[in-house]
Amino acid sequence: MLRVGAHVSIAGGVDNAVEREVDVGGNCGQIFTHSPQVWQDPNIGDDEAAAFREETTAELDGPWVIHSSYLVNLCTPKDDLREKSIDSMQKEVDAAAELGIEYVNVHLGAHTGAGVENGLDNAASALDELSIPDSVTVLVESDAGSGTKLGGDFAHLAGVLDRSNQDLDVCLDTAHAFAAGYDLSTPAGVDETLQAFDDEIGLDHLACVHLNDSKHECGTNKDEHAHIGEGHIGDDGMTAFVNHDAIRDVPLVLETPNEDGRGFAWNIEKVRELRDA
Ligand SMILES: [Zn+2]
Ligand SMILES: [Zn+2]
Repeated sequence: MLRVGAHVSIAGGVDNAVEREVDVGGNCGQIFTHSPQVWQDPNIGDDEAAAFREETTAELDGPWVIHSSYLVNLCTPKDDLREKSIDSMQKEVDAAAELGIEYVNVHLGAHTGAGVENGLDNAASALDELSIPDSVTVLVESDAGSGTKLGGDFAHLAGVLDRSNQDLDVCLDTAHAFAAGYDLSTPAGVDETLQAFDDEIGLDHLACVHLNDSKHECGTNKDEHAHIGEGHIGDDGMTAFVNHDAIRDVPLVLETPNEDGRGFAWNIEKVRELRDA
């Protein structure tokens, strides 16, 4: 079964996300529990959490993913930012358990001069401080790799999985991986990239894909998402990717733009067309 959905808003109550997902034609999806640009705690009432769980069971196949705050920086050498990041992540995994959500997705963040190895150590030890409910798995997301951000190289993600005592998995963002230098624009490039993922991390750790095309060329480290098939990954790369044996059973969550009169509904329909095209 093709599991495809989009990152939708929880405005007006988290249970509204289910209807928004259905409206765009998705059967799985992703949310923020609060504005991702500020330090804020999830504020979800018991009633809306119950409604979210019930409506999800009735309307969707799942899974849902909570995307953590953009301010979280697990790699940071700064104590105050580290503590805020751990605190924020703890609240996200607790909210996930309350909502019956399987995954919490997080970027590793930036080492800001501490160096790659220290950054990976910091990320793993920060994740190890979390008390993660049994029903929840934290996913570390592949990054576009600008500046000192880690996670552009698959070896960074593997390094955190190896160092951490938690049972972590990975979310592969196609636009980020492409920007980080993994060429997904041809069938051969898709094969090589997924082989590299398997060699470095292991495909058994690939729990979710953020399926996005890229407005910038491969290796530019620039993170700007494009409509599926209309960026530099293009139709050939996207077709090869969504039909690849390693991807067919992995949930695809779109973070594509809303522009040119096209939003998630158009992009989800496009993915359905490319599958088995
Ligand atoms: Zn992300
Ligand atoms: Zn993403």
